Amino acid sequence: MSPAPVEADPAQQVLHEVFGYTAFRGRQREIVEHVAAGGDALVLMPTGGGKSLCYQVPAILRHRAGQGVTVVVSPLIALMHDQVGALDEVGVPAAFLNSTLDGDEARRIERELLAGRLVLLYAAPERILTPRFLAMLESLAERDRLALFAIDEAHCVSQWGHDFREEYLGLSALHERFPQVPRMALTATADAHTREDIVARLKLEDARRFVSSFDRPNIRYTIVEKDEPKRQLLRFLRDEHEGDAGIVYCQSRKKVEDTAAWLSAEGIPALPYHAGLDAETRRRHQDRFLREDALVMVATIAFGMGIDKPDVRFVAHLDLPKNIEAYYQETGRAGRDGLPADAWMTYGLADVVNQRRMIDEGEADEEFKHLQRGKLDALLALAEAHDCRRVRLLGYFGERYGGEDDGDDDSGAVPRLRCGNCDNCLAPPATWDATEAARKALSCVYRFRQQGGQRFGAGHLVDVLRGKQTDKVAQYGHETLSTFGIGADVAESQWRGVLRQLIALGHLRTEGEFNTLELTASAREVLRGEVQLLLRVPAETPRRGRTARTRGSADKPPPLPLDEAATARFTALKAWRGEVAREHNVPAYVVFHDATLAEMARERPQTLDDLAGISGVGAKKLEAYGEEILRVLRQGA
Ligand code: ADP
Ligand code: ZN
Repeated sequence: MSPAPVEADPAQQVLHEVFGYTAFRGRQREIVEHVAAGGDALVLMPTGGGKSLCYQVPAILRHRAGQGVTVVVSPLIALMHDQVGALDEVGVPAAFLNSTLDGDEARRIERELLAGRLVLLYAAPERILTPRFLAMLESLAERDRLALFAIDEAHCVSQWGHDFREEYLGLSALHERFPQVPRMALTATADAHTREDIVARLKLEDARRFVSSFDRPNIRYTIVEKDEPKRQLLRFLRDEHEGDAGIVYCQSRKKVEDTAAWLSAEGIPALPYHAGLDAETRRRHQDRFLREDALVMVATIAFGMGIDKPDVRFVAHLDLPKNIEAYYQETGRAGRDGLPADAWMTYGLADVVNQRRMIDEGEADEEFKHLQRGKLDALLALAEAHDCRRVRLLGYFGERYGGEDDGDDDSGAVPRLRCGNCDNCLAPPATWDATEAARKALSCVYRFRQQGGQRFGAGHLVDVLRGKQTDKVAQYGHETLSTFGIGADVAESQWRGVLRQLIALGHLRTEGEFNTLELTASAREVLRGEVQLLLRVPAETPRRGRTARTRGSADKPPPLPLDEAATARFTALKAWRGEVAREHNVPAYVVFHDATLAEMARERPQTLDDLAGISGVGAKKLEAYGEEILRVLRQGA
């Protein structure tokens, strides 16, 4: 084996030699250099941005410089396990301390720690704050062998966010007891409020902030109107994600169970996951999801945090998430490996009604409810948007998207930006002026009240507006209303869009178990024509066999452009990887990513030297697996 190219820059050298990567991504280099030199840092980077390397590379550099161990605070046991497994694969001495270890193992690791042999130690916050652990840290600190504290998933310290963990609050003690040890906090949560919470609670006022773009360019956003949600989901999975791993989010446990069973019956391997399942079942399902290639996890939001499986190809929402923060975090679990991935959601009137009601009937005080309603409105605006979803998403987080201007905008207004990778950019929806329709709908609700003092639901309202002769219409004599049939020219799906908007904007609200409609005080503004509504024309649901989508599987950018022979090699490599992963008790991607295997299959390295040039092959993996891989490649060819 020839010596690795000489690299003057030690960070670059570690990246290359240990991890087998050729270049830092985004702001990684700046962060690594700042932290390796002993600076404090707050790192905000989207999921998949590469946060781990931001503390792992400094940890290695500082350990090499004799500065001791980096302690990583991590909230999740599964995650610690995989991270340590991955570090083990690249030859970096690392360990975790958590409740899964028995006493002997824990003591062995403590000895390693105190002897200075570990480069990284992962532990849960509650562990770190025990007197025993703090005493060990004291002992290390006295000898200047405490290199760095890295606080991962730092948003857990904020009550504002959705993952608040009480134990995180105690972490300010680290700064108080070890003021000389540099600290970094990392999170993928983008909103400003959470960010300020992290700074205040972890006392990181003086830390340098590294805020990356939160854009996930490889994720394609699509939001469709709910029609037959299960069928729509099935079509999406069959048309675009045959044989892919992905997550389907549902709101209730029952729906999770039903959907998982239904998908399985349709021949799509799927497992349920929700907090009502016992711990053992949850663990088993999560394990299979991490380890298998093509499993669909149908889950409530109980599933997902700390899942760093890189090849999740889609995240589908069958129900509306709580707000944009949740939507972004959940969809962010797709495509961590940078290859094309989908965020797909179906939503409808019932979602809007349910979410509104959950807020209204919740225990929270009025101020909090007001805030939640505002957040829901922002999400609905995203769902109903007829312009670029990405521009809106990033705008919500205070980031201006730097995409292309929409050249043919002839309105003379501010040019619209577009990303080219969301449903609205790929197939711009037509819009229609629904101002008049909204007035008609509201005055019809008003007439119902006036005529018989009764309230009705959305279905009946649309029937009356469209002039449909139903039993109910006859029963209540609604064909005599002045509003009967005044909206026959507007399609039913368009009416549903109008009602969603009116409810979302708070001009209409629903009541009681039948979700009957009622005007609010602000309805008057709409009736007076003061509120202009510009809505998207709902896309016609594509029927089977006539794919109206812009992307069939044919023009989907193939993640692995391999010819037949290379595909055979790729398959052989995957089989080999599966064996290694089982033997080492780690997920397959910890051994090598798909992208790395694909490059091997395509490039067909003949020598260890050639192999070292493939991204993802570091010195340790080259030594451990090099000969084996070359053998598999020769045989697979
Ligand atoms: P995050 O924790 O920010 O979600 P990870 O640290 O898990 O992201 O990184 C996401 C993926 O990107 C990982 O599989 C990692 O190996 C890979 N990665 C990170 N940085 C680089 C880089 N500079 N070059 C190549 N791959 C990288
Ligand atoms: Zn777009």
